[in-house]
Amino acid sequence: MSNALTFDLDFRVPPGACVALSPLIRRVVADNPGPITFTGTCSYIVGHGRVAIIDPGPDLPAHVDALLQAVKGETVTHVLVSHTHRDHSPAARAIKAATGALIVGCSAHRSARPLAVGETNVLEASADLEHRPDMEMREGDAVDGPGWRLEAVETPGHMANHLCFALPEERVLFSADHVMAWATSFVGPPDGAMSDFMASLDKLRGREETLYWPGHGGPVRDPQRFVRALAHHRRQREASILNRLAAGDRTIEAIVPMIYQGLNPALSKAAALSVFAHLEDLVARGLVVTEGPPTLTGEYRLA
Ligand SMILES: [Zn+2]
Repeated sequence: MSNALTFDLDFRVPPGACVALSPLIRRVVADNPGPITFTGTCSYIVGHGRVAIIDPGPDLPAHVDALLQAVKGETVTHVLVSHTHRDHSPAARAIKAATGALIVGCSAHRSARPLAVGETNVLEASADLEHRPDMEMREGDAVDGPGWRLEAVETPGHMANHLCFALPEERVLFSADHVMAWATSFVGPPDGAMSDFMASLDKLRGREETLYWPGHGGPVRDPQRFVRALAHHRRQREASILNRLAAGDRTIEAIVPMIYQGLNPALSKAAALSVFAHLEDLVARGLVVTEGPPTLTGEYRLA
């Protein structure tokens, strides 16, 4: 069976337009394109009449208006939030204020671990620290409406509080930023952790959904094959980091340009954090050693 990871970059939808995707699902894409958000955040509306909105997105008035326009004449009972990145959760407050819906889903922001002494979280600006759910959802918790039910699947890794949501009526999973068809998920400590991410991929391999609707870009088709390829891709990246250490590289600064050739400079911090996420996992597994706790500026070598 093929382990090749191929990406679907053919996704063009006008921001703000509401598109029906299936009997139960509609999608509105926010106008926040970028190197990490692809064509923008996908917000999903589930059900008819009494509906839920999944990941209302960034706090952009035009996007909030587009969502409210799409559900005009309907009742929004729940706003589900997958994780507290600023491109996913902040608009929940505006939707709640306009509709009275409950904010449910992931917990308030939390990191996978404390920052090491002397570290700053270079991506701190990406976290929505104001997210306060009316109700947290843990593994298996569900909310429902007429003809639909959304169940939480805990999938830490991209972020410590990350949830996917299963819609059993259509055998689909809203995979948010855990599994996307256009790119590999970003895993950056301290909010994310590679060991969690790999365990969360394994967890999805035991499930029966036949299609994923991600937080950015088009659907993940044949998700079992895709998830397997994603895990394989991560193991290959781990192998190339081990190879660089074997070749004498000692720092993240030295490793990044060797394994990300032709990297978009806008993604250099993300790449450094991603290598750090792998090193942290390798140290925990005893394959790599460093002085003290792993840090972004530390020196690493093979154990
Ligand atoms: Zn995210």
